[in-house]
Amino acid sequence: MDELAERYLGRALSAWGLDVEYVRAEGDLMYLADDDGGQPAVTDFVGGFGSLFFGHNHPELVAHARSLLDAGTPSHAQLSQRTEAQRVASALNAITRRELDAGEPYEVVFANSGAEAVEAAMKHAELARVFRLGALTGELAERARAARAQVRSGEAALSPAAVELAGPGGDIDAVLEEAGRRNAEALGRAPEFFALEGGFHGKLVGSLQLTHNPTFRLPFQALGARARFVPADQPEDVLKYVEAEQPYVLDIVAEDGVVEVRRLAVPFVAGFVVEPIQGEGGINELTAQQAERISDVCRAVRCPLIVDEIQTGAGRTGSFFASSRIGLTGDYYTLAKSIGGGLAKTSMLLVRQSSYVKEFELLHSSTYAKDSFSCAVTEKVLEMLERDDGAAYRQAAERGTRLRRALEEVRAEFPDVVRRVRGRGLLLGFEFADQSASGSPMIRNYARSGFFGFAVSGFLLRKYGLRLMPTGSAPNTLRIQPSYAIDDAAIDRLAAGLHDICAVLRHQDALQLVHP
Ligand code: PMP
Repeated sequence: MDELAERYLGRALSAWGLDVEYVRAEGDLMYLADDDGGQPAVTDFVGGFGSLFFGHNHPELVAHARSLLDAGTPSHAQLSQRTEAQRVASALNAITRRELDAGEPYEVVFANSGAEAVEAAMKHAELARVFRLGALTGELAERARAARAQVRSGEAALSPAAVELAGPGGDIDAVLEEAGRRNAEALGRAPEFFALEGGFHGKLVGSLQLTHNPTFRLPFQALGARARFVPADQPEDVLKYVEAEQPYVLDIVAEDGVVEVRRLAVPFVAGFVVEPIQGEGGINELTAQQAERISDVCRAVRCPLIVDEIQTGAGRTGSFFASSRIGLTGDYYTLAKSIGGGLAKTSMLLVRQSSYVKEFELLHSSTYAKDSFSCAVTEKVLEMLERDDGAAYRQAAERGTRLRRALEEVRAEFPDVVRRVRGRGLLLGFEFADQSASGSPMIRNYARSGFFGFAVSGFLLRKYGLRLMPTGSAPNTLRIQPSYAIDDAAIDRLAAGLHDICAVLRHQDALQLVHP
């Protein structure tokens, strides 16, 4: 058969020894088909890149999905009442009430993928800004009309600033014309988003511009939204930028018999997007202090704080929202990945009720979004997370602690090879020291080409039956995000494999990394 589905990616996987095909999966295990009809097992620490909090094909979720299909659930029924969606929204709000400090409900908009939820957030934020601009334009026009009327009736005269704006011999009409020209320019300033260095928010045309990694982003820069990146420990850079760039409209107001020219700031910052723990950026946790400073910046520039919990949310870090652990409360939240239980491709945007623009509901939709099947699966996921007073969250935290201890032990033995272990709960990163100056040309090449993590993953798969992958934008960091049921034996196997690869790297035994 001709291979026409991403054939080149297949070749790259093959070069790293990762070109295997899984034929079955359950929990944290995936099975390969071997030539003798056997099915050797691989332990999966990639966890669907964060979508498998409950593991592969969790029996309760599978049974629920089956029952939905057996019952003939009308899945594609856009523009009809969806009780499942209402129940999901209300279950999510019970969680936001418990974990977050919003003091009000969140409205929920459904989408299909993580990137789409981020784009829905971007569109909603922009719509809110456009409505603010509309209100501002209306106020300016009203005050301009009043000023003109007062000048014409002799109740008011132009101030020196207004005379200057009008130009030589200019009257109130000239003032308003010039102000209108300048205002159109200021109001037309393209919106900008802020995001954190190292952040990842998707690869669609809009969301990609919030994803820091230049390899992904730059080829498509001309297509998308405008974003600026700031370091997590210097969010106040935003304030400096806004101060330098702030556009103003001229507000022509008649007051006490004088027509004055006032300056009003035009809101041009559409939103500030953050992950409480950067996943693809290499598992970097935001601190409570950084979170507070980011919130302050958003308040100062009056833009929504958009918290991307696509990878961190739905239990992975030991609570539903990772942001709740650092006191971060977003105006918007995005959820995807594990919220679909590993069976449904679904995502959600949550918007604080007082910031919600109801017109958005007519402006964002998709054939597939909010389908009853996905909503009903999500409902089950939420029920499984919340039952027994949150036993699943506690289990994730406990398993995470056990896993982290094992990783730290390897690091303690190989401080020359392992740079850091990072993360929280079941979202952990194992970072190798940079090998780009390695004495081994092969290891050096892997490191310099950015594929080091894949070479290491290939070794762990072939020799230990362990499925690992590097994070999307930090190639020296392995992502470790198994399900909440990962057992001690699997963790010990991981530790043994990591121990071995560390020894290989310490001894620069490059041949071990070659896939025959
Ligand atoms: N945001 C974050 C934080 C993510 O980790 C990802 C995916 N890795 C996305 C957005 C994009 O999600 P999707 O791949 O479903 O488009």
